Amino acid sequence: MADHLLIDGSFGEGGGQIIRSSLALSLITGRPITIENIRARRSPPGLRRQHLTAVLAAAEVGRAAVEGAEVGASRLTFEPGEVRPGEYDFRIGTAGSTTLVLQTVLPALLQLGGPSVVRLEGGTHNPFAPPFEFLQRTYLPLVSRLGPSIRAELHRHGFYPAGGGRFTVYVQPASEFGRLDLLERGRLQDRRIRGLIANLPRHIAERECHTIAERSGWGEKCCSIEEVEADGPGNAVLIEMEHEHVTEVVVGFGQKGVRAETVASRAWREARTYLDAGVPVGEHLADQLLLPLGLAAWRGEGGGSYLTGPLTEHARTHIEVLKTFLDVPIRVEDRGAQSAVHVGREA
Ligand code: AMP
Repeated sequence: MADHLLIDGSFGEGGGQIIRSSLALSLITGRPITIENIRARRSPPGLRRQHLTAVLAAAEVGRAAVEGAEVGASRLTFEPGEVRPGEYDFRIGTAGSTTLVLQTVLPALLQLGGPSVVRLEGGTHNPFAPPFEFLQRTYLPLVSRLGPSIRAELHRHGFYPAGGGRFTVYVQPASEFGRLDLLERGRLQDRRIRGLIANLPRHIAERECHTIAERSGWGEKCCSIEEVEADGPGNAVLIEMEHEHVTEVVVGFGQKGVRAETVASRAWREARTYLDAGVPVGEHLADQLLLPLGLAAWRGEGGGSYLTGPLTEHARTHIEVLKTFLDVPIRVEDRGAQSAVHVGREA
């Protein structure tokens, strides 16, 4: 058995992503890990239920031996066994984001000898996590351009805090990984403003869409109001910007005590920042692309590069986690308002 890699969970940004990425990379490389000081600088510190769901999912996919998988734990040991393709069902309950759990187990499934089907149940539209549409339209198409083929289908929405959403992901692994170079967005092909509403008055979504249609100047023709079924009340407004090479999805979540117009204005501000920056890769994607590119580079000739805005602390921390596991060059070119990130051998 290879030596345990020791991961300092309080390092850099110190959030849940260090835990999820370390689990994903442990599954990919087969290296056992010990994570210490888990979320040491957060309040409350330690493993939270939402991270625990990722640990348990990773353990199931990788037949791993786990010690310390408890809420509040500051130390966790994870020794992966064989990662096998197959059918997996993860019921995450009300606690966490299904999309983040998927991102923990997916990378390892991309390099196996057979296809997998992953069914998830829980929150599909949670604050501080990728909404399902970001996974489906932004993240998975780009990961698929590296070689694998991945498709996601939403069956039911799950809003925070009730959860109860469901989606399925079909994974066809790659026999070889290629490159993904995202240096420009290309032409704007479509733009949509989608107001999702469950068990709440329709006018909330209408006011959100109207606010964004007006601020953006895109007009009401870009709007759709979608009354969806869900376990509890829920509302999100999605701004989808489909360019030739990349689709960016920005989300605003309705919140008790926050006016629909305010939710919409915040979401539009984020979308406008993306549009004005002129780069293909937005803040969240910049962070999430690192792992699949690292995997592609580590497996051989793959890898890639992308242009994004100033790199967040989150992304910088993620780069350090990747370097701990993978012997792959990662270079960041700071160009002021823009950053170029190169993973693997440069083209
Ligand atoms: P952490 O804060 O460490 O638990 O990580 C949260 C993860 O969710 C990061 O990978 C973020 O990039 C991602 N994330 C958070 N909010 C969004 C969003 N609105 N759209 C897409 N990804 C998001």
